[in-house]
Amino acid sequence: MLKDCIFCAIIAGEIPAGKVYEDDYVFAFRDINPQAPVHILVVPKKHIPCALDIDADNAVYVSKCFEAIAKIARAEGLGDGFRVVNNCGVNGGQSVMHLHFHLIGGEKFAEKII
Ligand code: 5GP
Ligand code: ZN
Repeated sequence: MLKDCIFCAIIAGEIPAGKVYEDDYVFAFRDINPQAPVHILVVPKKHIPCALDIDADNAVYVSKCFEAIAKIARAEGLGDGFRVVNNCGVNGGQSVMHLHFHLIGGEKFAEKII
């Protein structure tokens, strides 16, 4: 856990958040500013700043995030599909420097980004 990291504080229960899932590796909660009917942040319980910092030692946290995404998507009724987004660094528009995956869905997205 990193001091002054808002997501570490949410994981530690110091800041309230709408928790939807938790296991030994992953914490998931509703985004405070949702961009879709379902907008959940899936976060590793280890403070990994961004996708550039994923390596062989911490990659289990990333695979656990994607296992959790599959479970959460089914539980949230997203069986028809969804999007997972990771913003990395300044050029990627990342605003919270604790690795996280946006799980968005609940509608058919009109425009593809890629
Ligand atoms: P980024 O821009 O880094 O990819 O995404 C950060 C996300 O965290 C944003 O979508 C923002 O709305 C969300 N967020 C920032 N602070 C909080 C908070 O205190 N609680 C919750 N639930 N979401 C937050
Ligand atoms: Zn953190």
